[in-house]
Amino acid sequence: MTLRLHNVTKKFGSFTAVDHLSLEIPEKQIFGFLGANGAGKTTTFRMILGLLDQTEGSISWNDGEIGYGQSHLIGYLPEERGLYPKLKVQDQLVYLAKLRGMPKSESIKELDYWLERFKVPDYKHKKVEELSKGNQQKIQFISAVLHKPKLLILDEPFSGLDPVNVEMLKEAVVDLKESGTSIVFSSHRMEHVEELCEHLCILHHGTPVVHGRLKEIKRSFGKKNVRVHAEFDTRFLESVSGVTKYKALSDGCELQIINEEVSQDIFQEISGKGFVRTFNLEEPTLNDIFIEKVGASYE
Ligand code: ATP
Repeated sequence: MTLRLHNVTKKFGSFTAVDHLSLEIPEKQIFGFLGANGAGKTTTFRMILGLLDQTEGSISWNDGEIGYGQSHLIGYLPEERGLYPKLKVQDQLVYLAKLRGMPKSESIKELDYWLERFKVPDYKHKKVEELSKGNQQKIQFISAVLHKPKLLILDEPFSGLDPVNVEMLKEAVVDLKESGTSIVFSSHRMEHVEELCEHLCILHHGTPVVHGRLKEIKRSFGKKNVRVHAEFDTRFLESVSGVTKYKALSDGCELQIINEEVSQDIFQEISGKGFVRTFNLEEPTLNDIFIEKVGASYE
């Protein structure tokens, strides 16, 4: 059930939106697809789903193409949210689940479970247009998962939600993974991907610039960060050998170092200089890695 993209390219006229993208998306995991606006995430999803034809390359899932025959196995939360505004939540979701082969009694049971879980049980008989945008998004998420898909594709599932709802959706995504669903989601927020995914790809102008297992990506980067909170001026640490970046904080600094041994030199340097509140050796962030690869900040 692995999803494979091999050398996938999509051109719109002379513009290349996705450029020779090769990926393997392992099953029963959460795969994060990162990229700034216009990087090519949505276009890639549309090609995976067969809504758009790729210009070059191949895409396979379960050793075949994804078509209508697999609708009952696939869940999709499109970027262009699109439930029917005039229809009531239950009528609409039961109908969509029926198109994917789920009997009405079962879909109502599932719907009750999800509405309860998302703390909106009283929306069942409301028209979609009566709900706030964030709540419409929760309903649309439910419509993507109601029929218990094996492969779930979520285009920016957390955008536009308040922090409480973001957490609620994240927990749901993790639970779905635990129960064996393969999940691919896009985001322009690195922290969502760092938190949820074992594997990821960062697209930049249609090209993957970082790709693989999160832990390995961080390990192979080599550089680390040190964060110091202290009650004295720490600027002198900028010139310690092995420090590649210095960022002042209101009560200390954040340093990038070439390897973790350098942290011990920094530790020596600050000891005896005054009151040190915290000293932390940290893994590089995805943003650090992105900056290094493309020479520019991500956001
Ligand atoms: P966002 O986060 O803004 O949704 P994205 O990573 O999903 O961005 P895409 O929607 O895949 O990006 O778009 C990638 C590029 O392809 C953009 O420059 C976009 O303008 C272009 N593009 C997408 N669809 C079409 C189309 N049908 N015709 C022409 N250009 C298109």
